[in-house]
Amino acid sequence: MIKRLTIVMYHYVRDVESTPYPGIKALPVKAFCGQLEYIRRFYTVVSGAELLEAIREESYTLPPNAALLTFDDGYADHFTTVLPILEEFGFTGVFSPVAKSILEGHVLDVNKIHFVLSATSDNVGRVVDTLFALLDHHRAEYGLESNESYYSRLAVASRFDPPEIIFIKRLLQRELPEPLRGRIVEELFHRYVTTDERSFAAELYMSLDQLRTMAVRGMTLASHSYDHYWLGTLPPHRQSEEIDRSLDFLRKLQPVDTGWIMCYPYGSYNESLLSTLREKNCLAGFTTEVDLVSPGGNPLLLPRLDTNDLPKAGEDEANEWTKKAMQ
Ligand SMILES: [Zn+2]
Repeated sequence: MIKRLTIVMYHYVRDVESTPYPGIKALPVKAFCGQLEYIRRFYTVVSGAELLEAIREESYTLPPNAALLTFDDGYADHFTTVLPILEEFGFTGVFSPVAKSILEGHVLDVNKIHFVLSATSDNVGRVVDTLFALLDHHRAEYGLESNESYYSRLAVASRFDPPEIIFIKRLLQRELPEPLRGRIVEELFHRYVTTDERSFAAELYMSLDQLRTMAVRGMTLASHSYDHYWLGTLPPHRQSEEIDRSLDFLRKLQPVDTGWIMCYPYGSYNESLLSTLREKNCLAGFTTEVDLVSPGGNPLLLPRLDTNDLPKAGEDEANEWTKKAMQ
C-alpha cells in the first residue's frame, strides 16, 4: 500500500556550457548532486521495484518520507552521468526510454524542438517568423487558422517558459494536425540543427546495451510508449498498439510479467488508455501533475514534482513540498 510518496521528475542532466547546445534547459551536474544530498537528508529513496511491491501488496508499506527518482526520455546523460552518481549515493531510479528513438535512431519531436530553440536562443522571433511562413504555405491544404489566431490562443507564459517559447512548443507538440506537425518540426530541425538525424540520435539517447546495463545494475525501466505521442488523443486501437510495441521493447531489457510502470508522454492519458493499461498488467503510471502522491491515490495516476520544485543544494532548508511530505 502506498502512503505518502514524493516522486521527482528529471530530464536532461548535463553541464550544457561544454556542449554545442548551451541553450538546452538541463539540470547541471553540481545541482543534481546537491539535490541528491538534500534528498538524502530529508527522504528515503525507494526503487521502482519497491513501488511495484507496495502497489501489489496491501501489507507492504514504503518507509516514511519515501522518494522515488524518475528520469524521462532515455537520454545518454542518464547512463554516463546519472547512473554513476546514483550508485555513489546508493540510490536507484526509474528510467523511461522511448522505444522508437532507441530502436530506429529517431530524434523525438519534443527533442527536435528543444534543440531548434537552443540553436536559435539568441533570437526566438526568427523561429516564430519561419513558422508563420510555413503556416502560410500550408494554410489552404490543411485548413489552418490564421497566424494571429494561433498566436493569441497559444502564446501564454508557463511556469518555466516565456510566451513565444510556449507558442512554438504547443503549436508543434500538439496543435497542428499530423502529419503536418512532424513535417514542420523536421524542417526546422534540418534548417537550424542538423540533417544527420541518426548520428544525432545515437549521441542523444542511450543504446540498447546501455539500457541493459542499467537494468543489470538495479535500475527500473518503465514504458514511455513507442512513439512518444499524446496517448490520450489517440483512438483505442492505436493506444493498444503503442503499449504492445513498447512492452516488446521493455521485455528485451527486464521482466515485465509481474507488473510494470507507464510514464505518460506529456502526461497525456484518458479512460480508454487506463483500461488498456490495466488489462496489460501495468501497475503504476507517472503523470506530470505537480503534487505529492497521497494515501489512497490511483496508482495509475501518480503525480510528480519537477526537479525545480526541490532545492538544489545539500544544506538548503526543507521547502514547502518537503514539509508537506513530512507531515
Ligand atoms: Zn517524454
